[in-house]
Amino acid sequence: MTFNELNLIPPILKALAKENYTSPTPIQEQSIPAVLAGKDLLGCAQTGTGKTAAFSLPIIQLLSQQSHKPGTMRRIRSLILTPTRELALQIADNIQAYSQFTTMRCTAIVGGVSQKSQERALSQGPDILIATPGRLIDLINQKRVDLQFVQILVLDEADRMLDMGFINDVKKIIAKMPAKKQTLFFSATMPPEINKLVKTLLVDPVKVEI
Ligand code: AMP
Repeated sequence: MTFNELNLIPPILKALAKENYTSPTPIQEQSIPAVLAGKDLLGCAQTGTGKTAAFSLPIIQLLSQQSHKPGTMRRIRSLILTPTRELALQIADNIQAYSQFTTMRCTAIVGGVSQKSQERALSQGPDILIATPGRLIDLINQKRVDLQFVQILVLDEADRMLDMGFINDVKKIIAKMPAKKQTLFFSATMPPEINKLVKTLLVDPVKVEI
């Protein structure tokens, strides 16, 4: 299969060619059509399978297709929550590469760096926000982040966020978003607490296992 056959738009295909991606990985083949169709997704996949592009490419496409009107404020329309700073920065780098020929903007919000530079990036109005739960909660409490316009939520490595003690932060963050949204949920394992979250969050999900 080729990326062309997945009905991706020309600016994304151009970026993939530039990155020397020739064909989609199995998780990308299964996830991209489902996400483009607006479905919720439950993915059991490890890092290294091409998971990042599996959720990022269709998000970039869906958001660019309902492009931001000139002169109006940009809103965060997609939030990607991930357990560690390294993962967040890696996802942001990938999204930057995949969206280089679109007008999408993305920003990463992580702990361990000065909040000031992140506040500046936020004030420029990203379309896609990638965050670790702790720093995001701080910024939400300070009313510097508005999640009311989020349409697509990604929970990446949900089981690791649980292990790291982030589950209550994650629940608080989810409560700040509209109930009606598309949710893409990734977890390598399904402990009971994660299963409970899946049941409350996902509606008729497409299941993808690698
Ligand atoms: P991930 O599992 O998302 O961390 O991706 C693992 C690595 O594979 C990253 O370095 C990606 O840039 C790369 N990658 C993802 N999808 C593809 C693809 N379809 N073709 C070639 N490389 C890819």
